Amino acid sequence: MIKVVFLGPPGAGKGTQAERIAKKYNVPHISTGDILREAVKEGTELGRIAKSYMDKGELVPDEIIIGIIKERLSQPDVKERGFILDGFPRTLAQAEALDKMLEELSMPLDRVIYLNVDDEEIVKRLLARGRADDTEEVIRNRLRVYREQTAPLIDYYSEKCILAEVYGVGDIDGITKKIEEFLGLEG
Ligand code: AMP
Repeated sequence: MIKVVFLGPPGAGKGTQAERIAKKYNVPHISTGDILREAVKEGTELGRIAKSYMDKGELVPDEIIIGIIKERLSQPDVKERGFILDGFPRTLAQAEALDKMLEELSMPLDRVIYLNVDDEEIVKRLLARGRADDTEEVIRNRLRVYREQTAPLIDYYSEKCILAEVYGVGDIDGITKKIEEFLGLEG
């Protein structure tokens, strides 16, 4: 059972690393960004609302995101195998809502992995990635939103003594190995 949150700026490699750990240890990978992009693709009401925020690099409102996560965490695979949260929580309100949900499920977090990457490297990576919301103006806004709304979670989890910082630049296998160490996994 693994119960972990991946925290860090856009482009830090959260998705890549979360995917690797999820596959290797057969744990549900829950990415709010992926869930929202899927909804946009399917043209659902949620997708229509989410797109208006994503296109600008703004956060989708807390109530919507918290509702999505609440529903997903109630699924049987999570109960059985745990979860890797990627891109959630992104605000203090989301982090507090998560605490409450996990308390109700009696599934406390093992660790929060904070993937730290330098600003210049982030911009370089995001411009290279070329996703629809990876234009320079939107990237700049996403970094501002990250600093203002998400970065405070570093202190929030640090105070709970569950934060582990991993430098996210360099060899991808090496970064995975460090994450595995912090999670107490074999590797
Ligand atoms: P990501 O793939 O994690 O970079 O997410 C892409 C976009 O989806 C973000 O820029 C936000 O607009 C939206 N999004 C994803 N996760 C969240 C979240 N936890 N809270 C609010 N908005 C989110």
